[in-house]
Amino acid sequence: MTVDPRDYRATMGLFATGVTVITASDGQQIRGMTANSLTSVSLDPLLLLVCVDRKARMAPVISAATQFAVNILRADQEAIARHFAGRPQPDLDIPMIELAGAPVLRDSLATLVCARDRILDGGDHLIVLGRVLALRRAPEGEPLLYFAGAYRHLAEVSPALA
Ligand SMILES: Cc1cc2nc3c(=O)[nH]c(=O)nc-3n(C[C@H](O)[C@H](O)[C@H](O)COP(=O)(O)OP(=O)(O)OC[C@H]3O[C@@H](n4cnc5c(N)ncnc54)[C@H](O)[C@@H]3O)c2cc1C
Repeated sequence: MTVDPRDYRATMGLFATGVTVITASDGQQIRGMTANSLTSVSLDPLLLLVCVDRKARMAPVISAATQFAVNILRADQEAIARHFAGRPQPDLDIPMIELAGAPVLRDSLATLVCARDRILDGGDHLIVLGRVLALRRAPEGEPLLYFAGAYRHLAEVSPALA
């Protein structure tokens, strides 16, 4: 049975995720890229992975960077997600700061700064493993979600159904 890549994509799109912006610098430029391929890999050592399209402008930057960051977006940061997914949003203010040696979004739900550990072959993507060096969490806030090709928000569950 042959699986059509478009069917595969649509089916994987039913796996609801949060939304992140990966940020990295190769010493020449700082780049950001929207990504939802984030996976927690290991607690000992602390490892996570993100998958980066080999054709993305982020690919050579994260490959050259010693550190990178995963910025988990808040529900009200959809414009930032769109911007870093290649749909520039006019007049959008995106302040960045440095955290533990990596460029990060100043505002997010949470941030993980990683040392680039290994890059593995993932077909047309790079599997980038990061060793977690530093963490930051906002005291409150809800996540931006992605499901079936659209941005979503958490729905309140009725106490009667909980
Ligand atoms: C929900 C979602 C999840 C995704 N998950 C993944 C994934 O896991 N892996 C993957 O490879 N692709 C993923 N993509 C696709 C990816 O986000 C886009 O293909 C993206 O455009 C690729 O970026 P690029 O590195 O090629 O650079 P570009 O498309 O050139 O850059 C992306 C955008 O970021 C802006 N930008 C970059 N750096 C800066 C900066 N320093 N300051 C201000 N703006 C800047 C650019 O102006 C541009 O608008 C996802 C897309 C969406 C919508």
